[in-house]
Amino acid sequence: MSTSQYLSMLLSLPCPNCLDIIASNRTFYTRVSGFSVSCVITCHLCKASTQYSNEDSGVKYSNLVAEAALAGGINRNSFQTALATIGVTNQCSEKSFYNYQARMCKPIIDSAKFSSDIILREILDNLESAHLPGQEKVLPVGFDCSWSHARNAHQASGEFLYLGDLPGYNYQPVIGFHTVEHSRVIRKSENDSSKIIYNGNFSGTSRQMEHAILLVLLNDIMPILEQTDFTLHVCVDGDLETNRTLACIPAVGRIFADLKHISKNIRKNLMKKQYSRWHSFEQHIMRYFNSCIFSAGLQRKLNQDNAPTEEETRYIQVEGLIRHLLDDHSICWSDVCWIKDNPELQLQDPTLKNYTQTEIENFRSVITTIFRVPSGQGIVTTLRTSHNETFNRKILKYLDKWIDYWASYSTRHALAVLDQNEGLDVMISKVHTAATEKEFSHSDICNILKFVKERSQKVLRNRSEMQQ
Ligand SMILES: [Zn+2]
Ligand SMILES: [Zn+2]
Repeated sequence: MSTSQYLSMLLSLPCPNCLDIIASNRTFYTRVSGFSVSCVITCHLCKASTQYSNEDSGVKYSNLVAEAALAGGINRNSFQTALATIGVTNQCSEKSFYNYQARMCKPIIDSAKFSSDIILREILDNLESAHLPGQEKVLPVGFDCSWSHARNAHQASGEFLYLGDLPGYNYQPVIGFHTVEHSRVIRKSENDSSKIIYNGNFSGTSRQMEHAILLVLLNDIMPILEQTDFTLHVCVDGDLETNRTLACIPAVGRIFADLKHISKNIRKNLMKKQYSRWHSFEQHIMRYFNSCIFSAGLQRKLNQDNAPTEEETRYIQVEGLIRHLLDDHSICWSDVCWIKDNPELQLQDPTLKNYTQTEIENFRSVITTIFRVPSGQGIVTTLRTSHNETFNRKILKYLDKWIDYWASYSTRHALAVLDQNEGLDVMISKVHTAATEKEFSHSDICNILKFVKERSQKVLRNRSEMQQ
C-alpha cells in the first residue's frame, strides 16, 4: 500500500474521542524509521491525540524482512533491490537488519538440531523393531561435507544422512549436522589493530575442516549408539577428487565399531559410585578420549608421516586431558581441542583449576585405570554409495556459493536441514516463529501449503519428464 493512501485514510477517520469527521480540524505528524511509519493525529476540537502505526504491535517490519531474507535464501542486497522495485524505498539500516538476523540464529539452529535428533530416534526405534536376534544392529549413514566457497573457504558444513528406508519419508533425513567457521577479522588500515567482528569455532585450514566436522559428528552420535548398541556404517558419496576424506571412511566404521564398545565400558566404569567426585567431568573425559582416537585413527589412515603412535595417543589421552582441564593447551592436538588455536574460547566448567595436587593425582589414577580396557573386535564395513544430491541442492538454495554469508552461514545451513527433514512449509513457519514469537494463522498456513504442494508436484513432473 502506498504511504500517501495510507495517510489520507487515517485522516479521513473520525476523531475517536469526539467523533468529529472534518479532516481540516485535525493536524498530523508522521515519523518514519526503517519500514515503520507512525502517525500522530491531533484533534483541535477536543485536543485528543491518537497514534497510528503501520506495524502490528510487537512485530517490526525490519525483523520480518530479516526473517524473509533467511527463509528465501537471499542476502540483504537482493532483498533490498526486490523491495525497492515494488516501491518500498524507505528501508531499515544494515545494522538493524543484521541485529535482527543474529537474534534468529539460535532458535533456528536449535530447532534443526531438535528435528534431526527426533528423526534419529525414530529411525533407531524403527530399526530396533525390525531387528532379528543374532544380527548386528547397523545404522547406515552417508557423510557429506561442503564448503561455502570452492577455494579458501572460511566455512564448511557436513551432515550425516540416513541411508535406509524410513516409513513415511521418501528422502534421506539429516540425523546430524555441524558447521565450522573461521572468525571474521577486519583491519581498517595497515597500522590499525585488527578487530574480531564474528567469533568462529575453527582456525585450521580448509583442508582440515572436513576432518574436524567428522570428529564432531562422530562424537555427537556416540552416546546414542552406545545406549542403543547400534554400529555406525559411514558411507560417502561423490567423487574421490573432491572428497579427500573418502579414502579413510571404511576405516572410520572400523575405528568406530571398536571405539563404541571401549567407550561404553569407560563410561560405565567412570560412573561407578567410587568415582562420584569425578562424575561431573564425564563429558570432558569422554569427548577428549574419543576425539584422540578418531584423530589418531584418521591420520594413520591418511598415511600421514607424523601420525601419532598408540603410546603417544594414550599419553595425550591422560596427560593432555589433565593439562587441558588446567587450561594449559600446549600439548593438546589442535583437532581435538579447539581452544589451542582459538585462545579466545573459554574452557567449559568443570575444570581442574581449583584442585590440589593430591586431587589431580587422584584424577590421573582414576582415568588411567578406567582407560585400561581391552580393545574390541574390528568390524568390517562395507562401502555403499547413494545420492546426497537432493540435500546438496537444498544447501545451495540457502547458501549460494557466490555469496559470502559469513554471519548467517550456520543458520542458513540449519534452514536446509529443516527444509529437508520437515518440509518447506514447516521451515517457513519455524522461521516466522523464531522471528516474531507468533504462530501463523490458519489461513496463512493454508496459503503456504498450497504453493508448497504446487512446487513439489512440479518437481515430480519435471523428474518424470527427464526420465522418459
Ligand atoms: Zn476530537
Ligand atoms: Zn586443550
